[in-house]
Amino acid sequence: MEECLFCRIVRKEVPATIVYEDDAILAFKDINPVAPIHILFIPKKHISTFFAMEPGDEALIGKLHRAAVQVAQELGLTEKGFRLVANCQRGGGQLIFHLHYHLIAGRPLLWPPG
Ligand code: 5GP
Ligand code: ZN
Repeated sequence: MEECLFCRIVRKEVPATIVYEDDAILAFKDINPVAPIHILFIPKKHISTFFAMEPGDEALIGKLHRAAVQVAQELGLTEKGFRLVANCQRGGGQLIFHLHYHLIAGRPLLWPPG
């Protein structure tokens, strides 16, 4: 766990531009944004993927989702909209194995994605 980049960001060992924080959740700007707004939301607890969720983690994932919606609202996206993405496992595009949501907005977003 010590080697997990996002755990290091939680412990403030690696700098990040934090946009939301509470006792359970941290959100920070993606270092390589794919849109004008690209924010990562993570539980402070290390959970590698959705498959690693334990009984009792459901409320934590609910808080994660709620934080993303709250920040989207604060950024004025209520009408414009946004995309919330979770890549799971390498085949799903996951590179950092600490569960996270991407909040992406600020440009037209095509669907289906490439
Ligand atoms: P994944 O592909 O795992 O869903 O997404 C990982 C995301 O983490 C990528 O969008 C990548 O740009 C971002 N990322 C990787 N390293 C860092 C870092 O050191 N700081 C920040 N803020 N984002 C990072
Ligand atoms: Zn971690």
